[in-house]
Amino acid sequence: MSILIRQVLLNNKPVDILINKNKIEKIASHIPTALSDEIVQAEGKAILPAFYNMHTHSPMVLLRGIGEDKDLFSWLQNDIWPREEKLTGEQIYIASRMAILEMIKTGTVLFNDMYFFMDETIRAIDEMGARGLISCVAMDLFDPKKTLQKKKDMAHFIQTPCSNKQVIKTIACHAVYTVSEELLLFSKDLAQKHNTYLHIHLAETEKEVLDCIEKTGLTPTKYLDKLGLLTPKTILAHCVWLNDEDQNIIKERGCLIAHCPISNLKLNSGQMPLNTYLKKGLKVALGTDGASSNNALSMFSEMKVAALSAKGESHDITAAPVSSILKMAHQTPAEFLGLNAGKIIEGALADFIFVDTHNTLTHPLQFLDSHCVYSLDSSCVSDVCVNGRFVLKNKNHPLENEIIDSFFTLTESFF
Ligand SMILES: [Zn+2]
Repeated sequence: MSILIRQVLLNNKPVDILINKNKIEKIASHIPTALSDEIVQAEGKAILPAFYNMHTHSPMVLLRGIGEDKDLFSWLQNDIWPREEKLTGEQIYIASRMAILEMIKTGTVLFNDMYFFMDETIRAIDEMGARGLISCVAMDLFDPKKTLQKKKDMAHFIQTPCSNKQVIKTIACHAVYTVSEELLLFSKDLAQKHNTYLHIHLAETEKEVLDCIEKTGLTPTKYLDKLGLLTPKTILAHCVWLNDEDQNIIKERGCLIAHCPISNLKLNSGQMPLNTYLKKGLKVALGTDGASSNNALSMFSEMKVAALSAKGESHDITAAPVSSILKMAHQTPAEFLGLNAGKIIEGALADFIFVDTHNTLTHPLQFLDSHCVYSLDSSCVSDVCVNGRFVLKNKNHPLENEIIDSFFTLTESFF
């Protein structure tokens, strides 16, 4: 299957782009129509790489707006965990569809997810065509009965083959303050055995760091490193409170940091020193975290707040320039995952979005990169292509009404 995109703006110049199967095969000022099965007219639209959201809990759209204005620990213990215990697989499916719809409409095609009943999230991906790194999260709250059950659930999840090539099954651990050493080690072994990614919250709050030092004598980073969890396949969410030594360890091990500036600010967890990390050469991508602590899944908002937060935290106006922020949203996660993606060049994966330039937010077009970080929102995204397949066309998603209606029905009975 080949698709010819006609006269889309790339770096403010109209070009034709030929998509063959799941790759960008050719970019030229004119490509003959005979080479394609389908033609997409894209005059008035600009092409940009799609976004990769490297930390979220997609079904938490169901808990959006709950327990506002509380710190992380009281929010989790009083508002989130009691409700999560009652969630069913069907509810997770309905919520996952809603989250994927929101992500597609804001230009995100890949999300790194950590939650429960994740077969239901995979079912939603199968229907909607996104990419996902999907895990069954380890969390036992140091209760041996839960440790045993989690081991069974995680082993079952990771061992069951997934036919969807756009899904990578991963291992996730919630955090050092919610997962026993036994389950952390089990998770590490399982990730190694299946040669997959390991995803964990790390150093999100100062309390997490101080409690870990009191309990183990080590910072959370050093503790995880001692257990062997930090590898080039480890994705660390937050990393707000790292000392110099922690930063060096993470750099040496080749881990990816998923920076979640909105969640960190909203939960008053602190501001990650992005400027310092980028200057040191740490790998940093972006994540929205769950919609319950954001309260959206928009990478446009995440990029803007990441840039502003870095400038404010470092008192350096040159911190987090537009080019660095875009790299964090596109290329850095793609490279970490071994994907030739995150850029609009011949040979790259066909993961991209069109921005409708008939919009107040996209002008002057000469500075579209800057607008992407500081101005654009979902109203600008007209089309989204994942792996060579359009999942949003002219702002229309075929399942949109059905997905919102079923979510609305669910929330009427859930609350
Ligand atoms: Zn999180």
